[in-house]
Amino acid sequence: MILNIEEKIQNLQIETRPFINGVYCKSIDGRSIPKKSSIDGRELPSLEACNEKDIDFAVKIALETYKNKIWADLEPKEKKRVILKLADLVEDNIEELALLDTIETGRSLKNYYYDSIPKAIEVMRWFAEASDKFFDHAIPPRKNSFATITREPLGVVGLITPWNDPLVVAFWKIVPALLMGNSVVLKPAEQSSYSILKVAQLAIDAGLPKGVLNIVTGYGNEAGKALALHNDVRGIFFTGSTFVGKQILQYAGQSNMKKVGLECGGKSPFIISEKCNQLEEAAKVLTKNIFYNQGQICSAPSRLIINKKIKNKFLEILLKESEKYIPKNPLSLENEVGAIVSESQKNRVEEYIKTGIESGARIITSKEELKIHNGGSYVNPTIFDDVDPNSKIAQEEIFGPVLVVIGVDTVTEAIEVANNSKYGLAASIWTNDFDEAYQVSRLLEAGIVHINSYGDDDNMVPFGGIKESGLGKDKSVYAFDEYSEIKTIWMNFKNI
Ligand code: NAD
Repeated sequence: MILNIEEKIQNLQIETRPFINGVYCKSIDGRSIPKKSSIDGRELPSLEACNEKDIDFAVKIALETYKNKIWADLEPKEKKRVILKLADLVEDNIEELALLDTIETGRSLKNYYYDSIPKAIEVMRWFAEASDKFFDHAIPPRKNSFATITREPLGVVGLITPWNDPLVVAFWKIVPALLMGNSVVLKPAEQSSYSILKVAQLAIDAGLPKGVLNIVTGYGNEAGKALALHNDVRGIFFTGSTFVGKQILQYAGQSNMKKVGLECGGKSPFIISEKCNQLEEAAKVLTKNIFYNQGQICSAPSRLIINKKIKNKFLEILLKESEKYIPKNPLSLENEVGAIVSESQKNRVEEYIKTGIESGARIITSKEELKIHNGGSYVNPTIFDDVDPNSKIAQEEIFGPVLVVIGVDTVTEAIEVANNSKYGLAASIWTNDFDEAYQVSRLLEAGIVHINSYGDDDNMVPFGGIKESGLGKDKSVYAFDEYSEIKTIWMNFKNI
């Protein structure tokens, strides 16, 4: 329970400077990014904007720490100890971190405090515990030769993260990267940098050597671009839009062909077959996953594809459920759904809603304007029925609380509509026919398919998309492979 929330916000010590070589430092040319909270438009401390020279300095420091092996050569159990300590320190500071993330992104305090940051802590503990329990490989020994196949750290890795779940996405990348022995330079989104800047100091307090984790603040097309183009960065791992993801691939090609990992956008389908006999449960799960965090979730099921025979019945249930996700004051611990991250993002979502109306689709949810705080950015859950599967609102990622409904006659048509997308992040099929569930799940083009569920997972399973939703995986033991290279060592021996 957090008491005196407003008073605590006034007393927050907010760090806005980059963190390089274990200290907060001024950016070289001292420029900053003005910020205001999307909760109510209040001004927030501006963030330092790093330029190419700041990035070069951070990479140089990271490279020095990598080369002196102060971290890379630590025994796995020692690395694990540091990450577990960091997880404890994040837990001790959860109230402050939740407040920082809330004022910066507008997502509800309840959500950060009880759900998102506890999940981020779990991510650290899971990777730390896993890191000294897996093995590399060796070929079966022969009389005069032997070979090992080992994972080697990449060296300096660059990480670039978005604003919609700041610490979870950052830890999905930082923790396996560090545990594999790399040194890290992270550029968080300019909309969500306060909490990770605080964590950087906690990492030093936990025993991470200086210079192994560096945070560079600033704009994507300046600081992020310089990081992705840097020739001493050996891997760049990005979560964000598909548009920028494609640029990251180009930067890798233009520079040193560094390894690239991309977790990008989605337009995930939620299919309900005529053979689904749990419509209430499906409606609960669908509304939670599309309207939670104002729809700002990459894997949100933003396309409902449903058999026409059950569509009207289902929409009735869905409308009732969607009312639970009307945004409310993000600073109350009672409320699950808060604000959209910024005014510009809100305008973008509203522009899509206008386009949907112009395309002939029909809004079936309330069109009442929301008044939560003057100057805040909020959008009502919006459901469009009668949507053309090729229209803009059915094809493009809106990244807001907007669901499109497409009626189909058969399950084969449902699969066609579902796969008619450049994205392939997540998908779901709801049916009580076991054969149909299996066959449809095999045919859906997505990195993650849920059967009679959505969004359920834990740290043991990988997360990541196919097609234009990305390359590579976050989470699970597969993540350790992302932050390393495979090396073969072949050995010949003489007879004794
Ligand atoms: P974005 O692509 O605009 O920005 C993401 C990050 O990239 C930010 O740190 C930004 O500063 C940086 N960036 C922007 N331009 C850059 C450039 N030219 N070079 C290098 N870096 C640059 O995305 P966003 O608006 O912050 O986040 C929303 C997007 O992220 C959505 O498309 C969403 O689907 C996606 N996302 C994907 C996942 C996933 O795991 N697949 C998770 C969360 C968000």
